[in-house]
Amino acid sequence: MSLALTKQEVSFQRRVKAFAQKHLKPLAAKIEAEEYFPREFLRSLGRNRFLGAPFSRSDGGLGLGWVCETIVAEEVSAVSAAAEMARLASAALYSAPLAYFGNKVQKKDFLRPVLSGDKVGALALTEPEAGSDAGSIKTRARRDGRDFVLDGEKRFITNGGVADYLFLFAVTDPGRSPRSRISAFVVPRSSRGLEVVKAYGLLGMRGANVVHLRLRRVGVPRENLVGRLNHGFPIILDELDRERPAVAAGMMGIARSSFEAAVNYSSKREQFGRPIRHFEGVSFKIADMAVKLEASRLLILHAARVLDRGEPARREGAVAKLYATESAFEVAHESLQVHGGIGYTKELPVERYFRDARFMMIGGGTSEIMRYIIQREVYKEMSRPS
Ligand SMILES: Cc1cc2nc3c(=O)[nH]c(=O)nc-3n(C[C@H](O)[C@H](O)[C@H](O)COP(=O)(O)OP(=O)(O)OC[C@H]3O[C@@H](n4cnc5c(N)ncnc54)[C@H](O)[C@@H]3O)c2cc1C
Repeated sequence: MSLALTKQEVSFQRRVKAFAQKHLKPLAAKIEAEEYFPREFLRSLGRNRFLGAPFSRSDGGLGLGWVCETIVAEEVSAVSAAAEMARLASAALYSAPLAYFGNKVQKKDFLRPVLSGDKVGALALTEPEAGSDAGSIKTRARRDGRDFVLDGEKRFITNGGVADYLFLFAVTDPGRSPRSRISAFVVPRSSRGLEVVKAYGLLGMRGANVVHLRLRRVGVPRENLVGRLNHGFPIILDELDRERPAVAAGMMGIARSSFEAAVNYSSKREQFGRPIRHFEGVSFKIADMAVKLEASRLLILHAARVLDRGEPARREGAVAKLYATESAFEVAHESLQVHGGIGYTKELPVERYFRDARFMMIGGGTSEIMRYIIQREVYKEMSRPS
């Protein structure tokens, strides 16, 4: 397995980077200061064929694979992590389960318009009483003739207040075990009975739209059931396994921007008659940041290549997410330190990187859950007869 980018991937990376610098950079401060949701940017990403890298062309994707998805995640997040959060929720978290489990009509109606950037999607799994323990969700989908009626609450849903469609999980057979009582649905957000209770204020990722939703007798046609009845849990696991390398790459994007800011600042800022990079206390921080970035990049690429070989990447994705997200926070923290007092102010984006980088040790499965997955896979592998 090659851990270098192919020529095609390098050229794709150049194009995404140029696009993000030209179209997103001028918006980044507005997204942060005004909590502005970058709807138009998502549309232009779709129009310019940057959404849906892993999905087949016949489904409206780019047919390029998960490595290219991680490239988009890194380049968008390097400019605005909040914009990347909106993109990821729509074009990966919402879209992947439809691409892999949806039927032809569902893909035409609910996937293509999102990958073209015309519509926005969100993934609605988490509930007030079900976070890390996703199998314990309570939102109920009862049969109503051939259709369904949904009641319940969903918490912390990214894009939930602006999305056109939700990919939502609900319990269809409470008598069964957690792994065989959940089903997956596409629910238009305009459905009667679906209410945005509130939008959360966030530590970082300002501009991302993260909301609490309530469903009261929301009618959903049978045609919107994705996959088989009571087979939603494997869809949850599949989605989580696929999203992790891209989540990790988004955080690496923030780490890269933090790192570059620290290198530049330490080369220019002078104290004691010389640029501060000449003090080992500063330059060794740069060295440690470089190592973390390089290791993150290799782990992410490895996990994405495993996915592109059509193999499950549970352990590889968890390793990449754990390492890259924790490293991104450490890099952002050290970059702020290298900037001294100015790093703590709103004069530079460094304090934003620091706040944004904190999120993904929680979202998409916490660091503790990543460690849980990794040790479980390790013990499984080690107990297999050689
Ligand atoms: C800004 C934001 C955006 C989000 N976007 C979405 C979204 O779009 N869609 C969606 O469905 N969800 C979303 N989430 C939810 C997110 O995935 C959950 O917050 C996350 O999975 C953790 O769940 P929790 O917050 O309920 O914490 P809990 O599960 O209650 O965990 C609390 C603490 O206990 C620890 N813990 C729990 N179980 C274990 C265990 N077995 N072993 C060790 N430690 C454990 C956790 O690691 C954590 O430190 C979002 C969350 C936030 C904050």
